[in-house]
Amino acid sequence: CARAGSTVFSYRFQSTAVAAAHGDSAATAHGDPSFLESVDIYFDKAASLASTTPDILTQIKACNNILKVQFPLKCANGSVELIEAYRAQHSHHRLPVKGGIRMAPNVDADETMALAALMTFKCAVVDVPFGGAKGGIKIDPTKYSTNEKEAIIRRYTSELVKKNFIGPSIDVPAPDYGTGPQEMAWIKDTFEHLQPNDINGSACVTGKPLEEGGIMGRQEATGLGVFFCLREFLNDKASLGKMVIVQGFGNVGRHTIDSIHGAGGKIIAIAEANGGLVDESMEGLDIPALKAYHKKKGTITGFPGATTVKNSSGILELPCDVLIPAALESQIHSGNAANIKAKVVAEAANGPVTPLAETILEANNVVILPDLLLNAGGVTVSYFEWLKNLNHIHFGRMSRRMEERGKKVRKLSTACSYLLDTDGKGCNFRTAAYLIAIERIATCYRLSGIFP
Ligand code: GLU
Repeated sequence: CARAGSTVFSYRFQSTAVAAAHGDSAATAHGDPSFLESVDIYFDKAASLASTTPDILTQIKACNNILKVQFPLKCANGSVELIEAYRAQHSHHRLPVKGGIRMAPNVDADETMALAALMTFKCAVVDVPFGGAKGGIKIDPTKYSTNEKEAIIRRYTSELVKKNFIGPSIDVPAPDYGTGPQEMAWIKDTFEHLQPNDINGSACVTGKPLEEGGIMGRQEATGLGVFFCLREFLNDKASLGKMVIVQGFGNVGRHTIDSIHGAGGKIIAIAEANGGLVDESMEGLDIPALKAYHKKKGTITGFPGATTVKNSSGILELPCDVLIPAALESQIHSGNAANIKAKVVAEAANGPVTPLAETILEANNVVILPDLLLNAGGVTVSYFEWLKNLNHIHFGRMSRRMEERGKKVRKLSTACSYLLDTDGKGCNFRTAAYLIAIERIATCYRLSGIFP
């Protein structure tokens, strides 16, 4: 049996980017920066426009803590496997810190820190009062039984409890890639067993099933938020009659597709890791029929109402109005950016476009709607769930917040032209969103001072 152990690293004042050896390997193979380096590059670009002092910018940029744990899993076949997992807490300017837990084979420390940083900026853009965090368990969840996954999640939670990396006022996880309400219910249950005196125990995690203290609409929230923002930027209140391609048919992709389809948009292709669908008629896929097919078969490939393609990466390069990457990071990189024909790239995933790709896309007049705004609907509704768990009070509408914030980002992108030499064109939406986040977080840092 492999020996269990854990390490707490403290990354103070500098989050050093180490070349990624994982999911963004297609991007790094083309010379793109790693995911963590990309987040730092985007931050630096906006930071150079901020009125904030350099010492505060350095503090904001740094990932405060990262926990790495390794623990044994007794597999169903009697063997024992060592599981590697992480939790990164990027910024404590607001407490608790907040962010999902993903299960994927490419999880590592750098990816977790990059995702935690995005959570900090995301919460600040939509004015949700949390710091940023993220967790990752380095497994392919499809290769484990439900019982094995439960054992992994419960042991991971107990490691977080031991290291003080979870709690309603400390650090509140949520679903992410490869996890959902069931995993959140196991986390809550484990936490409440280990901390029976915490009267607010159910607020230790969000994205729970309704019966376990969850909130209506949390599952749809991220996809719906993408849709609200998209509608705001396309200035298309009545309908969304655009031709749309989506990468990913997980929780975020599915609900984004649902909302766009419901508003009259045409989903003309969907790319999944194991293959994709193209609607040659360009009339738009029959989404209710596709959802029923997916429920039955567990895959979108082979759907009779469309052409199945084996290699789905080419789908991103088909002509469309809006391309929505809703899967993993670094999917649009310097190797494929020049082939993208969409007019708008709407980042439903975290970090799907590398900085080199952004430069290429923008040179081709493609508008990019940035992740830290677009996919913030999930954490917005998590905030309502957390408040509900703490107070038993009902809270208002996500649509209004996403639209308001969208307006603010758009306005700033034009307004900041006075800071830039861009012939009055202002900055892009990503820089504007980062800038809003930086100024907001900087106010907290400034007012709190430095302890001791
Ligand atoms: N995993 C989601 C995200 O990346 C949700 C985070 C949360 O609700 O805390 O935004």
